[in-house]
Amino acid sequence: MPGLQDLTIDELADEFEFLGQWDDQCRYLIELGGELPDLALEEKSEANRVPGCQSQVWFVPQVHEDPAGTTIEIRAKSDAHIVDGLIVVLLTLVNGKTPEEILKTDFTAAFKRLGLEAHLVPQRRNGLYSMVERVRAIARVHAPTDGKHPSPDPFDAVNGSHTSSSSSPRTSETRAVRPSLPVAERAATFDVSAVRAQFPALHQVLERGVPVTYLDTASSAQKPQCVIDKEREVYEQYYANAYRGVYRYGDRISRELEESRERIRRFIGAESTDEIIFTPGTTAGINLVANAWGRRFLKPGDEIVLNEMEHHANIVPWQWIAQQTGAVLTYVPLTDDGRIDLEAFGKALTSRSRIVAVTGMSNVLGTAPPLTELIAKAKAAGALVLVDGAQSVPHMPTHVVQDGIDFLAFSGHKLYGPSGVGVLYGRRELLDAMDPFLCGGHMIERVQTDGFAVAPLPAKFEAGTLPIAQAIALGTAVEFVTDLGFCPVHEHEQSLLRHAWDQMHKIPGLRIYGPDTSHRGAIVSFTMDGAAAQDIAQLLDLKGVFVRHGHHCTMPLHTRLGVPATVRASFGLYNTREDVDTFIDALHFARRELKLS
Ligand code: PLP
Repeated sequence: MPGLQDLTIDELADEFEFLGQWDDQCRYLIELGGELPDLALEEKSEANRVPGCQSQVWFVPQVHEDPAGTTIEIRAKSDAHIVDGLIVVLLTLVNGKTPEEILKTDFTAAFKRLGLEAHLVPQRRNGLYSMVERVRAIARVHAPTDGKHPSPDPFDAVNGSHTSSSSSPRTSETRAVRPSLPVAERAATFDVSAVRAQFPALHQVLERGVPVTYLDTASSAQKPQCVIDKEREVYEQYYANAYRGVYRYGDRISRELEESRERIRRFIGAESTDEIIFTPGTTAGINLVANAWGRRFLKPGDEIVLNEMEHHANIVPWQWIAQQTGAVLTYVPLTDDGRIDLEAFGKALTSRSRIVAVTGMSNVLGTAPPLTELIAKAKAAGALVLVDGAQSVPHMPTHVVQDGIDFLAFSGHKLYGPSGVGVLYGRRELLDAMDPFLCGGHMIERVQTDGFAVAPLPAKFEAGTLPIAQAIALGTAVEFVTDLGFCPVHEHEQSLLRHAWDQMHKIPGLRIYGPDTSHRGAIVSFTMDGAAAQDIAQLLDLKGVFVRHGHHCTMPLHTRLGVPATVRASFGLYNTREDVDTFIDALHFARRELKLS
């Protein structure tokens, strides 16, 4: 083997090819790393430390000026042999080169050639790209300033005390991808029996042979077999903690999580997976924004604009943060048919409006507010927009970039995915500027007894152990919905809604709340004169029809409606016209049992 200083990337590539298997290549990297000379103790300083690496890595650059030009030589060392091996690989691409040559080097292609892109676990790959970033920063400092490579303050890239992800390896170069086509634009046909066949819980038979008619999807959706199988696969075949172990299970888990993150990114049209934060659900996502953004940016007298139909999850966190910061809440009233009063919305916006928090679809009225119009008005007033996508994301296309959404929160369990996991999307600049919310493991880059530095996105907001299998299976759920296509799903759900709507209007004393079917998703909340909501729900259960009753976590809305409780039937992509007919028959049954005239 040639001395390290003489090793070339071609020789490395030959050796990797000869070895063939990752096991052997990995051992070779460790062996190479073992030969990397150590640095002096004083060279392992904070100024020389490379931020963004899980291991400690130090770079000591030397610049050789001679008549032929300027060349760069880096001496480097880490605290792990395998990382030292990667340093050796990296330095074959750097040492003895001019700054211009370094800036033109396609590091990714070189790593791919060795198979490193495929085999390194995500945190190690990120660490490698942090080293690349450092190398580039050094080269930029010494490159001739021709306007193409502005010469930054080298200490931006050197001191590492700030961990803004803009200097992380996850920049647009390596991670950001153009938003894909909105899912709704894909054409597909919809075979409800084939879809329904994939949901085992819908095929259970109750006592006396009564079938299940599940009309509580707005509360939590049933799961297709592929989601159940995915979760089971994780536990049975490769379960481990995520973003921690370099062993094979840990590596597989980290990759599967990143794949899920990527599927979700595409699903909502985000620019980068760094903007996709796994959370426990919608409630947690909104609390994260209210705390991490609100505490940092809300001042006394700033306005948070809500409306009367919001779920408690999109009211209470704002009430709480308003109490903490002195901000005030403005509630936009609803029209009598349960829509946001657009004129009142326009008037509610002032120069003090900082954020509009609005549902993508009401979980009671089914109202789908005109987000494009609301967002345009909010933006014109200089306010950010958070969309509570708990009900909208599973049933209609969402494209955060095209729609101009700043924050989007949604839950896996309403999206035919597992419970315990959800997503917060946030625009990168906003997430970067926010403080962390929960603190602990994984969200840090470095901890000392007297302080810590936060990790780049998305880890910054993912403290502690994620709901691992759930987050992976959420990616499967997203793929399931994506493959069906929102156009046919939406059409199918709307036809169920219209069928239910027509039949329900024929039932004496039954009152449906909210707008007509052209302004709502497939959710109908209603009361029946002379009957308590709970009694109706209980009697429907006797017929195997599962609906929810109560205030549905929307007490202010129920106050506005003037009723303490409603019964809610909500439809999902697996419901059929027969489900609607069974529901209507069950309502007649309830009326008879309650002796309503
Ligand atoms: N927002 C809306 C509109 C909802 O319907 C729900 C749940 O029903 C939530 C927020 C809260 O969702 P989760 O309980 O999954 O956090």
